[in-house]
Amino acid sequence: MSIAINAISKRFGDFVALDNLQLDIASGELLALLGPSGCGKTTLLRIIAGLETPDQGQILFHGEDATDTHVRERQVGFVFQHYALFRHMTVFENVAFGLRVRPKKTRPSETEIKRKVHELLSLVQLDWLADRYPAQLSGGQRQRIALARALAVEPKVLLLDEPFGALDTKVRKELRRWLRRLHDEMHITSVFVTHDQEEALEVADRVVVMNKGKIEQIGTPEQVYDAPATPFVYQFLGDVNLFHSRVHDGWAEVGAARFAAEAGDSDKAVVYVRPHEIELSRVATDKAIAGVISHSRLLGATVRLEVDVKDAEVVEVELTRERYQEGGWQVGEPVWLNPREARVYPAA
Ligand code: ATP
Repeated sequence: MSIAINAISKRFGDFVALDNLQLDIASGELLALLGPSGCGKTTLLRIIAGLETPDQGQILFHGEDATDTHVRERQVGFVFQHYALFRHMTVFENVAFGLRVRPKKTRPSETEIKRKVHELLSLVQLDWLADRYPAQLSGGQRQRIALARALAVEPKVLLLDEPFGALDTKVRKELRRWLRRLHDEMHITSVFVTHDQEEALEVADRVVVMNKGKIEQIGTPEQVYDAPATPFVYQFLGDVNLFHSRVHDGWAEVGAARFAAEAGDSDKAVVYVRPHEIELSRVATDKAIAGVISHSRLLGATVRLEVDVKDAEVVEVELTRERYQEGGWQVGEPVWLNPREARVYPAA
């Protein structure tokens, strides 16, 4: 089922939660809505679900106006951050619930329900837990059951609101991969909300980056990461160092380093450099930024160094452990920073 969001706006009192959004979701796509807290992700998801009505604009399901269609008729399945399983029902009954409450005419037989529930439980690889109660499951297992329950009614659209947000990092990473594989098998048009850029980049076919009720960029993970349309997207998709600068003759200058800038002479500009895009050197070059290493932190496979730079905030540099050890870098020593890549945006 394809979904078109057409010029949708939503206010809460004076507050504009969504501002004239335009978005086409292809049938079978797995789309991530990514953005900071309060940017309107959940509101958009609730509008797609039919739990919230937009003030302006339309939503089309498969080309047909569904703006006023009731949530029950939209054939959407939901999974929320906080598992909404019924505590007094077994896993089996939780998954069967949506089928049992169907009107008599469309309700499957008891044998059919059994077959279907076991099929879904196998799909989420938890058939062996059918007789347990939610309290006897881990958080990750509960979310998989919640997904099985959402799928039981054969939704045309699956909506997931921070489905793994309450789980610890390791389980979350497992469930991401698992969700991706499941989606590849089922091809249900799915929209999931997250504020975690890694999660969006890893799982989604396309990412919608939102900020303050607007869409900043829509693109594949590669597009939004490698070619951010705005400084906001660039900053939101990964750690970044900011160097404030002024432009001279088409160059933004930071220390002795120069970066091509499109702004006019003496305009303020900001140079953005990701921590892993900086080379360290002990030799002064005419294009480097001088600093002193003030801290080092081990992040597992990489090492993060903090470098104090005159007239700038602390600059973070990320090296692989190998390069860190080869370099023999020490806290307290003077170094030169050579950004390999940089982006220059006009100062806001
Ligand atoms: P989070 O990641 O924190 O859930 P979000 O991006 O999903 O954030 P929304 O829940 O869509 O954000 O909320 C967007 C804005 O609209 C927020 O500032 C929120 O306070 C406001 N908002 C949402 N629902 C209501 C409501 N029913 N009444 C008033 N304001 C609301």
